[in-house]
Amino acid sequence: MRCKRCGSVDIVLFKAIHRCSACDSTNIIGVDVSATSTRATSHSDAAMRMLLPVDRSGYAIAAGYLGLVSILLIFAPFALIFGILGIRDIRNNSEKHGMGRAIFGVVMGALFSILLLLFIFSL
Ligand SMILES: [Zn+2]
Repeated sequence: MRCKRCGSVDIVLFKAIHRCSACDSTNIIGVDVSATSTRATSHSDAAMRMLLPVDRSGYAIAAGYLGLVSILLIFAPFALIFGILGIRDIRNNSEKHGMGRAIFGVVMGALFSILLLLFIFSL
């Protein structure tokens, strides 16, 4: 740490404020930036959680992908099953995430399972 006004490195901490002992300035360079860096770290953690399946239910992840391929009908019942398992898994484990994916799997799975059944019975 160094005083911005006089350049002295003789900085004292007085009443939680870093103060130059030579000129009494509080304009100090290099005051610990842990407060701002901590905020940046937690922000990037949130960003990482959006991108990576951190703490996400494995069933919910599977349901999300199966929901996307439910349009091929044959995957729809699996999306429905994994979606339901995902919702149960997340409800039972509050630390797990991915409810959006699980619900997406159930909705897509249910919709395309009906279409699959209609297709089978129309043959
Ligand atoms: Zn100074």
